[in-house]
Amino acid sequence: MATPRSIVTEAEQVRLAVHLIKLGARLQVLESETDLSYERLLRLYKEVQGKSPSKGQLPFSTDWFMTWQPNVHASLFLNIYMNLIKTTEIEEIEAVAKAYELYLEQVRATGNEDLLSITRAWRLVRFVDADMLTLTPCTKCGGLFVNHTHELTAGYVCGLCNPPARAGKTRAARAAETAEAELETVAATTH
Ligand SMILES: [Zn+2]
Repeated sequence: MATPRSIVTEAEQVRLAVHLIKLGARLQVLESETDLSYERLLRLYKEVQGKSPSKGQLPFSTDWFMTWQPNVHASLFLNIYMNLIKTTEIEEIEAVAKAYELYLEQVRATGNEDLLSITRAWRLVRFVDADMLTLTPCTKCGGLFVNHTHELTAGYVCGLCNPPARAGKTRAARAAETAEAELETVAATTH
């Protein structure tokens, strides 16, 4: 930003950074979404998390989102996110944070592990913005699931309607229960 930052803008950016750090965001997310300096963000991170941020690359591939269980989690998050973007004036990064909180609430309420991190959720939105991933309707359950944008989608069946054989009965049954709860949430948020 070329213009001098106002104190209000800066306070707003610090608030956003702290919010994202509390949700577990990696430093790269904060660097990308605020114009606070790296040193400033590092200090904030240590203060909020009580430890140094983990180093290493961000996940750059879309593959993770296409694997079975992560796809269900990513789809739940993205449905909530898309709905927020459509129905509110909220900024994109605020929508990511809000949708992620709603995702956590839903997953924890059904006694499941939160497989999707805020960093991955943010990455997912980036992939959607870049037209690499999108939501595709399942021809069986009608739910919207994360899929490659330019895939042939006629006859698409989601991972919940067609769980992989290796998932086994128990996990498949558990996933089906989660799916029902998640689809209800999706339905509730879209109507
Ligand atoms: Zn389905």
